[in-house]
Amino acid sequence: MYIYDILEKKRAGKALTDEEIREVVKAYVADEITDAQMSALLMAICINGMTTEETIALTKAMQASGKTYKYDFKSVDKHSTGGVGDSTSLILVPTLAALGLKVTKMSGKSLGFTGGTIDKLKAFDGYNPEMSEKKYLDIVKSCGGVIISQSSDIALADKKIYALRDKTATVESIPLIASSIMSKKLSCGADSILLDVKYGSGALVKSVFDAGRLARLMVKIGKKAGKKVNAVITNMNTPLSYGVGCNMEVYCAIMALHGKNSQLLELSKYLSAKLHAMHTGASYKKAYSLVSKAISSGASLNKMREIISLGGGDVSILDKPEKLLVSDYVVKVIADKSGYINNIDALKVAKFVNHLKDSVDTDKQKLRTGVMFNYAVGDKVNKGDELATVYSASKVTPAQLKELTDAVAVNKYKLPLFKLVVEAIK
Ligand code: URA
Repeated sequence: MYIYDILEKKRAGKALTDEEIREVVKAYVADEITDAQMSALLMAICINGMTTEETIALTKAMQASGKTYKYDFKSVDKHSTGGVGDSTSLILVPTLAALGLKVTKMSGKSLGFTGGTIDKLKAFDGYNPEMSEKKYLDIVKSCGGVIISQSSDIALADKKIYALRDKTATVESIPLIASSIMSKKLSCGADSILLDVKYGSGALVKSVFDAGRLARLMVKIGKKAGKKVNAVITNMNTPLSYGVGCNMEVYCAIMALHGKNSQLLELSKYLSAKLHAMHTGASYKKAYSLVSKAISSGASLNKMREIISLGGGDVSILDKPEKLLVSDYVVKVIADKSGYINNIDALKVAKFVNHLKDSVDTDKQKLRTGVMFNYAVGDKVNKGDELATVYSASKVTPAQLKELTDAVAVNKYKLPLFKLVVEAIK
């Protein structure tokens, strides 16, 4: 294989063969081709794209660069392409486990401005998501569900390539995103996988059209690998929950487990029912009714207690979630005019929270940093009302607060609401 010839071929917009893709990935992991050469290839892919066959070959090559987990039971997994205020995993995992499914949920850390489940789990003091394979299998077998860190031995090529993409403006490419996500999901070993593909300001993919292309491509890759894979396209223009920031998002997830209505609960029930139905063959209606009952009866909350304690975590916040809403500085944000909330921009809110986090040092301080809104898009607000509360471990400056208020659009007239779920793809 001559890397120079491959670069010329991709630069000219031609499709690479399976063998060429396999060899490039192998050579890059073995340090036989340089970062400069790989960057050139990634940029050529970004500009010229890849065929479905090339994307499947890239996914397989990256999967083969690490371990693939195999279980002696059938399991389910859900993956979100990344969002703001999205803590659906903390509701879906215990709910499906409470309904008797095996949920092997390998989650990621925060990526850019999007939140990661593994960071949120730090709210449960002592919970260790980096557990051994034996411990994680023991937990799944005894209680049905577990949430662990995506192990460091899967898709080694993706780790190296993702780091390079991050530095070379080559993250935003549909075949590269699809192969990156699917190489890891296929390595995690679940039989039924539900992909929550986000679009909008707070998502990696901004247009609903591109989210559709990404979702269809990932479903195709998964099916080709012999898995049951479905995808849903969901709105990430506004934060999914009232809280943004680790502790605030965990607070909202716990309230949802207690049955408190919110968009977060609505989407969590939808995703749980979809995954249950595709795995068991039950109708969506039947699955939705089972999921609703698991939450309203407290079974999901009790299962979460079991999962967290088996992982070594403190469960006291499950009964006293208000313990999560503390920080050194608590600032009330007051509405400066009356009207309808027509938008809360997810990206702007995420950046506001991330800037506050950047000004503190410790993990504990970062956990306690965030915002809780008292209103959602579509609500009416009056001048002088408490719009939101900011929690920060460092002093919040007026310039920082303006970042947050700029994210909220209040107008005289109410605009139609965005649909939460735009499309489901089988
Ligand atoms: N998440 C991933 O794991 N990979 C991407 O390329 C984008 C989001």
